[in-house]
Amino acid sequence: MTQRPGFPVKLTTSGPKRSVGPIPAGLTGRPAPSVAPSLNPSQAAAMAANATVPRSDTSVTGLGLDSVAVRARMVRKLAEQGVQDVRVLAAMGQVERHRFVESALVNQAYEDTSLPIGLGQTISKPNVVARMLELLCQGTPGKLGRILEIGTGCGYQAAVLSHLATEVYSIERLRGLHEKARTNVRPFKLHNVHLIFGDGMIGYPKGAPYAGIISAAGGDAVPEAWLEQLSVGGRLIAPTTTAAGHQALVVILKTTQGFEQQVLEAVHFVPLKSGVV
Ligand code: SAH
Repeated sequence: MTQRPGFPVKLTTSGPKRSVGPIPAGLTGRPAPSVAPSLNPSQAAAMAANATVPRSDTSVTGLGLDSVAVRARMVRKLAEQGVQDVRVLAAMGQVERHRFVESALVNQAYEDTSLPIGLGQTISKPNVVARMLELLCQGTPGKLGRILEIGTGCGYQAAVLSHLATEVYSIERLRGLHEKARTNVRPFKLHNVHLIFGDGMIGYPKGAPYAGIISAAGGDAVPEAWLEQLSVGGRLIAPTTTAAGHQALVVILKTTQGFEQQVLEAVHFVPLKSGVV
């Protein structure tokens, strides 16, 4: 029989690790093994170097280096840091991250650091983006189906997702960033990316059900709408506040029996807020 958790799923007290509901204060950090084939760092770098870039101008003045080579180095580092999913490494190698940050920050675009994107928001560091995407891909061989991203920000992660999923719906509550993401994403002609201005707390029912939902902003609880809009077999990855008062990555799998939950490592994401501005 399907077990439904109480909504919204609030992470307040200690409890079991693999059911939706209370999340223990002590965090566990072991990812489940990926079904995707893994590759070693030099294979990863070669893959990034061979990746087709969306634009022909691969030599970037601001970077002072060939951006393909710089991305290959970033991918190699990601692999060394433990990212194994070849799909994720290839996608990260393909998307020109420097096109999504302010020109003054272009030189830092491929460093493992989070960067400001305006309106008090940040783009996560590559390692965190890759980690979350790997968690999203776990258990699904090949391409993901429809994905909902909460928090478009500058549009970088949506662009990476476009290489991993058939359709990407990405929602942003700050109009300024939504517009910026539109401008950033447009030249790449990513026809499977749909940018939406709205409050992601209520999900985006028009694209539901989703094979995966990924949040780039952290809330006190996982909104009920997200769980409802997830398909059976779908995975939800969201930074969420635990009983101990800090954020952790939470993975929720929707099954025919109900929901299974894992609490992983501590993270620091911008807050999930309701309403649009
Ligand atoms: N994935 C983004 C990261 C953006 S940071 C990127 O690649 O750039 C997280 C974003 O979540 C912020 O832009 C913030 O405005 C947005 N956000 C927070 N609460 C939201 C909500 N309820 N609905 C939609 N977006 C939200």
